[in-house]
Amino acid sequence: MSYYSAVDVITTKRDKGILADEAIAWILDAYVRGDVAEEQMSSLLMAIYFNGLNDTELNTWTDCMINSGERLDLRGLSRPTVDKHSTGGVGDKISLILAPLVAACGAAVPQLSGRGLGHTGGTLDKLESIPGWRAFLSNDEIRNQLDSIGAVICAAGHGLAPVDRKLYSLRDVTGTVESIPLISSSIMSKKIAEGTHALVLDVKVGRGAFIKTLERARELATTMVRLGTDHDVATVAQLTSMDAPLGRAVGNALEVSESVEVLQGKGPDDVRELSVELARIMLELVDIHVDPAPKLDDGSAYDVYRQMILAQGGDPDAVLPIAQFRNDVLADHDGVIQTIDALDVGIAAWRLGAGRARKEDPVSASAGVVCLVREGEVVSKGQPLFELYADDEGHLQRGRDAITDAVVVGEQPVHAAALLLERVNK
Ligand code: URA
Repeated sequence: MSYYSAVDVITTKRDKGILADEAIAWILDAYVRGDVAEEQMSSLLMAIYFNGLNDTELNTWTDCMINSGERLDLRGLSRPTVDKHSTGGVGDKISLILAPLVAACGAAVPQLSGRGLGHTGGTLDKLESIPGWRAFLSNDEIRNQLDSIGAVICAAGHGLAPVDRKLYSLRDVTGTVESIPLISSSIMSKKIAEGTHALVLDVKVGRGAFIKTLERARELATTMVRLGTDHDVATVAQLTSMDAPLGRAVGNALEVSESVEVLQGKGPDDVRELSVELARIMLELVDIHVDPAPKLDDGSAYDVYRQMILAQGGDPDAVLPIAQFRNDVLADHDGVIQTIDALDVGIAAWRLGAGRARKEDPVSASAGVVCLVREGEVVSKGQPLFELYADDEGHLQRGRDAITDAVVVGEQPVHAAALLLERVNK
């Protein structure tokens, strides 16, 4: 590989120039080897934050991230593979429902997931509230489970796009997370390395999401769909609202229970609606013409869920952890619920113990919030709005403080806002 100077690469991007493929390959490789200093990479990330990457640069950047590690080979399975990625929301337990639901329709879903950080929960944290459930699988176990059951939710091994972990930690402390090319390459390098043939992206927009405007969400979705397509992964994005929490439950075991309700044909309408819509898109992408909705009502998706949990050592019939302390938040006057702020609810669940501030922090399986009301509902003074759960009494007050302004009660009638916003195809 040719030799470049880190300073030249940084100044090229600082001055709005185009980085050569070889320069991108060199700097990412040198950074992994420790030959480019953290402050130099920080500087380049900031230059990219301001001046972006064009399509060719972004493809090369993403390729280099993929090539920094292993690539799973999911060819030759008995079913087509299709995965889903969500950019993260409050109460977003859709993966727990979607993987078995789409598998029940005949596809294979390799959900290689992560843990939660901050106010949005992580899929692995939720499933780890099931006694015995194991997040770490070998590549052979992943393939075998995909072939036999059709659904795997497990930890994305450290071998997939390892440079992303180093870059993400640096972005986190240098104010460079919110860059469309950096977010897109980070998400898509891991998904492409996972080996799925097709992918649906659930791009969350609103108060509880890290993208707040439809315009930014469109830009992110379009960039990720193009990256997927250019790497032969059939990719579609669905923009969905994340102003209010999804469903009623926010917290690890609480969300597992709600997912099981939906898998049994019950549960909140919005969780069911989004699960069915994303399942439809996933099935379309792999040419399976089956309506997923009946699979929730006839028990077949729930059967696959049970097999998936059992295969990973979990007991689907076990009683989930129950919090030691509970406290209700009551309406302080009569009226109509105008808004429920997903960010406030997410922060409350986090403070109650359901989330972590740093990667190495533990999470409580039982802590969280149950939202007892929805936007547009009429409430009376003294009526419970939220149930708060924690293992530590001290956390209850911290949760209460975070949630006190989450609900606006007013006079006006309110119509439920649309959950499904726009679809971005190739
Ligand atoms: N999730 C990721 O994996 N990477 C980002 O950059 C943002 C969200």
